[in-house]
Amino acid sequence: MARVPALEDLGDVAGKRVLVRTDFNVPMEGPDDRRVITDDFRIRAALPTIEWLTSRGAHVVCASHLGRPKGAPSQKYSMEPVRARLAELAPGVELLENLRFSPGEEGNSPEFAASLIKGIDMYVNDAFGAAHRAHASIVGPPKTLPSAAGRLLQREVEVLGNLREKPKRPFVAVLGGAKVSDKLGVIESLLQIVDALVIGGGMCFTFLAAQGYPVGASLCELDQLTTCKKLMEGSKPIYLPEDIVGLDASGNFATFGIRLPEGAKGLDIGPGSAAAFTDVIMDARTVFWNGPMGMFEDERFAAGTRTVAEAMAATKAFTIVGGGDSAAALAQFGLDDEVDHVSTGGGAALELLELGDLPGLNALRGAPNVK
Ligand code: ADP
Ligand code: MG
Repeated sequence: MARVPALEDLGDVAGKRVLVRTDFNVPMEGPDDRRVITDDFRIRAALPTIEWLTSRGAHVVCASHLGRPKGAPSQKYSMEPVRARLAELAPGVELLENLRFSPGEEGNSPEFAASLIKGIDMYVNDAFGAAHRAHASIVGPPKTLPSAAGRLLQREVEVLGNLREKPKRPFVAVLGGAKVSDKLGVIESLLQIVDALVIGGGMCFTFLAAQGYPVGASLCELDQLTTCKKLMEGSKPIYLPEDIVGLDASGNFATFGIRLPEGAKGLDIGPGSAAAFTDVIMDARTVFWNGPMGMFEDERFAAGTRTVAEAMAATKAFTIVGGGDSAAALAQFGLDDEVDHVSTGGGAALELLELGDLPGLNALRGAPNVK
């Protein structure tokens, strides 16, 4: 397989107009006409790539999506606040309007891709979090323009690629979060490369239900029970919670075993589970974590995620955390510097582990400057 081209493979960039596909999908709050960025990490993270280009005389035009505007312009998802912050961090760099204001972005329309590269000489993809989607701004430009992966994307490919090829064992994946049906799909392939799986968060209830335990009103995908049952019949251990914390049917904070009464909602793993998961993480030599163990945004349900984050920080294993919310949780606990790699994409990281490739990487390999 051809190599994914790096910035060096662009040749001379002086005087060239370079389109950089960034992931400026930053968290914001406030009313639609006065949106405020609450964390500019993703903008700062793009600076090494932007500065590599501008310091060599290139003119940089950034493009990103923001939120889910569903193919139509809206004030809520305007790029204006991002443009203002970018102007402070990287003066002179342009930023196009939200790519997803056009249905052509997610629809991968050739006309929209053509409009993006009008007057553009080169293309750089630094949006790992979007590289698993065959959208116009991801797969369109490399068809005709000399192209490269930016520094963020390059590092992601190195770390996650190595993980897939030659992880130090035992290799454990810890999964949680809320996008249950999305992630159930990757578990089967993940089980091919890991030695054990730890499951918490909204994900665990479908597995508990598959074993016949009542899960009350917790997140649960009833159509996936047979899939989960089959996964658990495999040879690799799958660790599930042994206690659950949540709300009872009247909405009061409650601690449960793994049988949830009717109407009760599981919103975090309990302390026993968190301790057991810690043991598994401490014994591993590689740990990949995606998805919070509970609804950590609510302090009452943050303890499980906090304990797992502390185990990630304490273990001697090589540690990778992927996913917007998982990374946010880690930062909230002040532990983001204590793991080896924080991936900027959850879905993209899982898919790269699963398939060893992404549509965005494949597109870069096919660019005209790649031999
Ligand atoms: P990531 O962004 O790290 O990939 P997800 O987006 O899949 O993770 O999931 C994050 C969300 O999952 C958080 O907002 C968290 O509140 C939610 N969550 C975790 N556990 C539960 C649960 N038991 N019930 C409901 N929501 C949960
Ligand atoms: Mg998320």
